Amino acid sequence: MKFKSAYLQKVYDGLEARNGEQKEFLQAAAEVLESLEPVVEQNPKLEEQGVIERIVEPERIIMFRVSWVDDAGKVQVNRGYRVQFNSAIGPYKGGLRLHPSVTLSVIKFLGFEQIFKNSLTGLPIGGGKGGSDFDPKGKSDGEVMRFCQSFMTELSKHIGADTDVPAGDIGVGGREIGYLFGQYKRLRNEYTGVLTGKGLTYGGSLARTEATGYGLCYYTQEMLSCMKSDSFQGKTVVISGSGNVAIYATQKATQLGGKVVALSDSNGYVYDPNGIQLDVVKQIKEVERGRIKEYAERVEGAEYHEGCKGIWTIKCDIALPCATQNELDLESAEALVANGVIAVCEGANMPSTPDAVAKFQESGVLFGPAKAANAGGVATSALEMSQNSQRLSWTFEEVDAKLEGIMKNIFHACYDAAEKYGVKGNLVAGANIAGFEKVADAMIAQGIAY
Ligand code: NDP
Repeated sequence: MKFKSAYLQKVYDGLEARNGEQKEFLQAAAEVLESLEPVVEQNPKLEEQGVIERIVEPERIIMFRVSWVDDAGKVQVNRGYRVQFNSAIGPYKGGLRLHPSVTLSVIKFLGFEQIFKNSLTGLPIGGGKGGSDFDPKGKSDGEVMRFCQSFMTELSKHIGADTDVPAGDIGVGGREIGYLFGQYKRLRNEYTGVLTGKGLTYGGSLARTEATGYGLCYYTQEMLSCMKSDSFQGKTVVISGSGNVAIYATQKATQLGGKVVALSDSNGYVYDPNGIQLDVVKQIKEVERGRIKEYAERVEGAEYHEGCKGIWTIKCDIALPCATQNELDLESAEALVANGVIAVCEGANMPSTPDAVAKFQESGVLFGPAKAANAGGVATSALEMSQNSQRLSWTFEEVDAKLEGIMKNIFHACYDAAEKYGVKGNLVAGANIAGFEKVADAMIAQGIAY
């Protein structure tokens, strides 16, 4: 990776030398550092204060054994992580991911991204992320519960409502948050807002479940309106994934006048030219915890195709990748561009590879990066924290209206920052710069521990 600034080059080379095997983390760091070239050039204080080398190093990494007993009475062992990356502007905040692909590199990339995303929301939350290589797929409720209890037994020593507030991510939904919260309460004898994404009967916020998908569509709508005088109305939309983010992105895109024609999971994708019937998807994924393949068995005219990557060959106007990192590569980007896509907005974290992003940008496709476009989830989590502190619950409409306002503000913060630093229209650079400025300022103000 080559940088114009000698300072950025030195920091990146050092990072690579120390973390050579952490490819996802290096990918995320390289993207942010590249965007910061003009900022570093215009602000010598950043180098004087060592801000860049400090911001790429987590404040704390916790790695731990999670042992639990399966239904057959066998002992199982997984590895747990919590990366407390940056607390300059608030308590660490970020989700927990349960997926076999979880490694320290994946959690560090997610935690690093979270710093800038949380800053962009305008709310007082620092960056963190955690999880485990445990796979909830195919496990019974009892097994998931015992895993979550064991995981929280260690994690509880490191988190707290004013220290670190985890939430859901891949593999962690309402069921898992409930088990984690219950165990924290048992261990600490404290009823506190230590987790977000809680159930509505015990401190959860209305609209948190919908927030990331809805927020993604609010951001996309603002981007279309401001940069192309356009909207979702009458557009064909392809959304990857079929989990929390994908489901509620489908709902909002449809409400805004778009037609969503495809969804996927890690095995394959479904194409429904008549428009996805969301009640069928919700029944399969949220109630039965089944596979997306079953959609094609239940809905006439829908097709199922093995292999999730093929979803990007479907002709569409708007593409919303909402599954996982690096799911959309150059070949997929080329197919989307050849089919006339006008906007791509990221619901998942870092779903597009760097060469795919470059392809969209050089082809004039509007591109909304994850750390801005999917910030609605964490923003609403911060609203859940506010409600917990006040011991109040706001209505769905109140939370949804705040979410829409936050997403519009995030879009404009990214757009304006890009313009200010001479890269008008580049929302990747704009998001990185706008997110960075506030955190850097707080880090400088708080000094360095000698
Ligand atoms: P879910 O677990 O609810 O759903 C994940 C979806 O992505 C599933 O359809 C899953 O399919 C698919 N998927 C997961 N891993 C892979 C893979 N390796 N290859 C292909 N498909 C895969 O997670 P969420 O919807 O919550 O999260 C999706 C993305 O959005 C993640 O990147 C997450 O970090 C990001 N995000 C989530 C937020 C939230 O509030 N939930 C907030 C901000 C970002 P399968 O069932 O086959 O595994």
